[in-house]
Amino acid sequence: MSTPEIMIVLATRNQGKVREFQQILQPYHIDLKSLNDFGPIPEAAEDGATFDDNAYQKALLTAKALGLPAIADDSGLVVKALQGRPGVRSARYAGEKAGDADNIAKLLREMEGVDERQAAFECVISVTVPSGPALTYEGRCEGEISLEVKGEGGFGYDPVFYYPPLKRTFAQCSAAEKNEVSHRGKALNELGREFDKVLTWLKSRLTEAKPPKPDHKQFMANDWSA
Ligand code: IMP
Repeated sequence: MSTPEIMIVLATRNQGKVREFQQILQPYHIDLKSLNDFGPIPEAAEDGATFDDNAYQKALLTAKALGLPAIADDSGLVVKALQGRPGVRSARYAGEKAGDADNIAKLLREMEGVDERQAAFECVISVTVPSGPALTYEGRCEGEISLEVKGEGGFGYDPVFYYPPLKRTFAQCSAAEKNEVSHRGKALNELGREFDKVLTWLKSRLTEAKPPKPDHKQFMANDWSA
């Protein structure tokens, strides 16, 4: 097989995410790396106000550090009755060292006696180059916060995210069922569908960023005349 036309880095060390991206981008002839393929590089603070800010921050830091195009995602749970919380703080909702069970417990406490239980998972994928411009893909999945924890599968808030079309929480769904409708599944599929255009865009941005090559003939001619 010929050499892949471009190297792209996924700005994550999470092997689960790496596998999802590899699967979606597998039809394309690219050399897809992750942070696990490189030595230590600076970690993004993930202190943005939106998923978009955080995804872009992660992708840009990686692109600049490695001098390569990079892709990052950021996602979380948005609850209507909580004015959008936990939002960008989803992973650390109950504190910096909180685990999934602590975050769920806090959420259920805050939702006690609340009738309006609409919520959505949101995901933003940012594709960027070291010079800064970026493309953005988004996915959203609407559901409800259940009254109690249900199911063993998934991760994060899955045991309290009730998905009405399947009449189960995400933790009660198979990975395939969830991926088909989830925020990340939708954003990834959108990226996959558009990836031809993404590659064209990346190549033109990377060419632009390079300093112009010296005109060799011109240089020689000047030399002679000197
Ligand atoms: P990340 O940006 O994908 O790392 O997600 C940040 C946090 O959002 C996770 O730690 C989870 O708490 C929550 N989250 C994101 N996606 C999901 C999901 O599909 N199911 C459950 N929780 C999720």
